[in-house]
Amino acid sequence: MVTFDKSESMNLMDFYQRFPDEDSCIVYLKSMRLKQGISCKKCDNNDFYWKQDRLMFECKKCKSRTSFRTDTIFENSNLPLLLWFKTIHLISSTKKTFSALEVQRQLNYNNYEPIWEMLHKIRWAMGQRDTRYKLDTFLEIDEGFFKVVDKELSKEQINEGQKRGRGSVNHLKVLVLVESEPVEEQYDKNKHKPNRKCGHLKMIVMEDLKAKSINEEISENIHVGLNAITDKYRGYAKLKEILKHEQINTSELKEVHKTFPWVHSAIGNAKKILQGFHHSIGKEYLQSYLDEFCYKFNRRYIPDLFDKV
Ligand SMILES: [Zn+2]
Repeated sequence: MVTFDKSESMNLMDFYQRFPDEDSCIVYLKSMRLKQGISCKKCDNNDFYWKQDRLMFECKKCKSRTSFRTDTIFENSNLPLLLWFKTIHLISSTKKTFSALEVQRQLNYNNYEPIWEMLHKIRWAMGQRDTRYKLDTFLEIDEGFFKVVDKELSKEQINEGQKRGRGSVNHLKVLVLVESEPVEEQYDKNKHKPNRKCGHLKMIVMEDLKAKSINEEISENIHVGLNAITDKYRGYAKLKEILKHEQINTSELKEVHKTFPWVHSAIGNAKKILQGFHHSIGKEYLQSYLDEFCYKFNRRYIPDLFDKV
């Protein structure tokens, strides 16, 4: 995986100065690969010649060659690196998201398909980054139901001459976990400031919301010994087996947002952004859109988002 330098904080002008052309991107990717270290797939050797004409590394020992794009998200793509870098900058420098059509328009590129694929690879990389993080301290847990479209059915309907974009609309279940540590300061009713500090967020598309599935998924994503609050939904009934759990009867709460200040707003914001920008979301892609949302949410205090793909 390629990592851009953390210390760089780039606006659009900085970006164009830094990466004015394809060559500057090639130099950057090559240097990042060397910094991270490459090992030969045939003989495990770590010493390489650089073949500028082919953009390949050649093993000094066995002479086998490997593209400098191998093992990065740029592998198997014919798009210029500059296009990739521009897109990464575009989608990671704003809280909002972009449809593939909009990116295609911004990049002034002829074909839709490669742009669409590129965006999904970037989102995939964002998701991969976040899977490394295990949640800690105190969690708010809840489930959300996200509207998606069954594309297969949608195609049939298009063939039948029906309106484009309509398919079998249904909702996928999403388990939402957010770090929400209680803070000392008193709740200020005038400022509506929550008395919990929000940390890292995870959103996981689930086959079902049975207690067994929920426990399995949460176990994989947390450090041991943390606290969590949920509502009284029966899927959370066995959480005590894996963490310190409090089930709160939300129907008795006057102000649910004070008890669950972050998980509800995360779900609401994710729905707003996803539905606003991606007209109809295919059910197989919901996770990757959520990955993008979480990736940006989790880096909201880091000014530069370009560093992390
Ligand atoms: Zn070798």
